[in-house]
Amino acid sequence: MNAKVLTAIVLGKAAGAIMRLFGRGSSFPGALALRICPELLGILAKDVRVAVVTGTNGKTTTCHMIAKILMDEGNRVLANEMGANMASGIASAFVFRARLNATVDADYAVIECDEASLVHVASALKPFAVVVTNVFRDQLDRYGEITTTLDIIKQGLKLIPSSLLVVNADCSLCASLGDLPNKIVYYGLSGAKEFCAKHTSAQEVSRCIKCGAPYQYEYRLFAHLGGFYCKECGYKRPEPDLEALSVKYDDKNQSIVDVTVKGSDKVIKLNLSLPGMFNIHNALAALCVAKASGIEYKNALASLSLVDASFGRMERFVLSGTEVCMVLVKNPTGADLILSFLMQNKRYKRVVFGLNDNPADGEDISWIWDASFESIYEQKDFSFSKTYVMGTRSSDMALRLKYAGADASSIHTIHETKDVASVIEDGDEPICLVLNYTSMLQTRRFLDKHYRLGGLR
Ligand SMILES: [Zn+2]
Repeated sequence: MNAKVLTAIVLGKAAGAIMRLFGRGSSFPGALALRICPELLGILAKDVRVAVVTGTNGKTTTCHMIAKILMDEGNRVLANEMGANMASGIASAFVFRARLNATVDADYAVIECDEASLVHVASALKPFAVVVTNVFRDQLDRYGEITTTLDIIKQGLKLIPSSLLVVNADCSLCASLGDLPNKIVYYGLSGAKEFCAKHTSAQEVSRCIKCGAPYQYEYRLFAHLGGFYCKECGYKRPEPDLEALSVKYDDKNQSIVDVTVKGSDKVIKLNLSLPGMFNIHNALAALCVAKASGIEYKNALASLSLVDASFGRMERFVLSGTEVCMVLVKNPTGADLILSFLMQNKRYKRVVFGLNDNPADGEDISWIWDASFESIYEQKDFSFSKTYVMGTRSSDMALRLKYAGADASSIHTIHETKDVASVIEDGDEPICLVLNYTSMLQTRRFLDKHYRLGGLR
């Protein structure tokens, strides 16, 4: 092994150790290692089976599910941390698990990859499977138009024609990846009425990606997802290899989903303790990757039934006797899904909306105007007892709620993160914290310190 590779590994590891002492993020060690040895990622990933997950929503949870299934089979699994999903963060994950002989202490790597970074890491990682969860409007100022995001993903996939693609059939943008030479499996939800969201506003893709004619829909799940077809050119939702037919809830709020497998008359039962339709999509994607790894559905389903909420996506705690649910929301579709969950679930009577506009949030917060906050005030049989806003753009958030129909006097502002504690402790009604990225990081860090969250999860 050459000296450059060894230097990159040693300095990367040292930088990681120092960063951890200060509790800082994990992109820098990878960036440093790649600077010293640009080929390092390819060298370290050589003997590891890599699964990559990209797309707008659901990356972290899908990775979490895949990793859980693989670990339950006795595999050693490497994963990158949430948020560290660009080339440097991915390199960090490999460097931390690297041995000095440039091998890695893992059988599998499950890598969350930012849409724009796939093109930079695809050739080095040579994944056996790539999941594309969906493409929604997100981080506008970084990627521009929505088809640009799809094009960027496509550029990355073109570098790895032998990777299996695992693609959401319900997303008209993703499904067009069927044009690539790769082998492809699709997953999706049927048009059953429990899957079709009542309120959906972010209909950003209304025209056929192939010919520009308006899409027709047999049914709509949420946003542009659903049973789309184009009358002009015949492009339509592909038949999924795994399709969720229906969902029921048991008394513990577990979803029990009937899933059909294409080409067989078998129906498999998927039990999930994670709420929300989007988690059914995530679980189906994880099942497809499990199958591609040679794992039987029976075993993968058992693992999925035990998956709990991953960091920040939808965590639940009991803090000072009050039930707290914390959710990350960063685009209109994510917001619509959470609002529809809160309206249906009716458990969380109090809500906090946290909105920051730091660089990591994408700075452009205009997406709040595309989310259907109106649905809160149109609902007849549910309303929040208390609504709070916080963050650097709390006044924009309050304004948005007023336009949606809120009574201005019912909206309270939380001026500092530390005041969240007194809000939580003000009464014992369950409270939901709906936060964008840096707002979630700040709040979680505070709650961690204040309530020693680690021990309570
Ligand atoms: Zn068309």
